[in-house]
Amino acid sequence: MSIAENFLSLRKTIPDHVTIVAAVKTRTVNEVKEIIDAGLTDIGHNYVQEGITMFEELGEYAAKVRWHMIGDIQTNKINKALHFSDIIQTIDSIEKADAINKRVACSGKNRVAVLIEINSGQESAKTGIDPDIEKVAALARHISHLDYIKLEGLMTMGPFAGDPEESRPYFKTTKKIFNAIQTLNIPNIEMKTLSMGMSNSYQIAIEEGSNMIRLGTILFGARIYS
Ligand SMILES: *Cc1c(COP(=O)(O)O)cnc(C)c1O
Repeated sequence: MSIAENFLSLRKTIPDHVTIVAAVKTRTVNEVKEIIDAGLTDIGHNYVQEGITMFEELGEYAAKVRWHMIGDIQTNKINKALHFSDIIQTIDSIEKADAINKRVACSGKNRVAVLIEINSGQESAKTGIDPDIEKVAALARHISHLDYIKLEGLMTMGPFAGDPEESRPYFKTTKKIFNAIQTLNIPNIEMKTLSMGMSNSYQIAIEEGSNMIRLGTILFGARIYS
């Protein structure tokens, strides 16, 4: 099956309210063009430099999709990331929120959408804020005072597990925090996006309330790192 056919048949099995973000790390420009032609609306990058290169190589295709930053951004790469990103899914501290806000202000860009990344498994090797309602609420309140970034929801990876059922508790925890922040009715933010679920876990994530899944392997095949 071609990438386009594969995408279309997968899309049919996923509820309409769930956005598919293609995680395009290691994929070629032609593969990404093919999936955009098939109707893909959102792409996600882990690495700033890869994102810039693809943005330039995609040419007119770049404007057909929304661009998500789904990897950690070092402070010295924020300007480069802003060059192509519409949504930054990896905000996990006041410092990072402030740094991005400041650079958007200087760039002349419109307000940039952001998600708070939750380290739902509390893994020391992973980025993200602790899955603690008070901590997430404090960061959400801080962002609500910033003029150049707008909080639109939460993202989580969760610990990688062979058995997707093992991801369920982490998705539940993240959804609980999502609901709690919604209930606070913080002005100037809009809790609408819950980004969780990858190729092996997206079905469980959707059952637990995800409305944005980030897929690589299941769209394009296994990644080959060279
Ligand atoms: C690579 C990646 C994905 C997709 O992973 P697959 O298992 O290939 O679907 C999703 N989210 C993030 C942050 C990633 O880096």
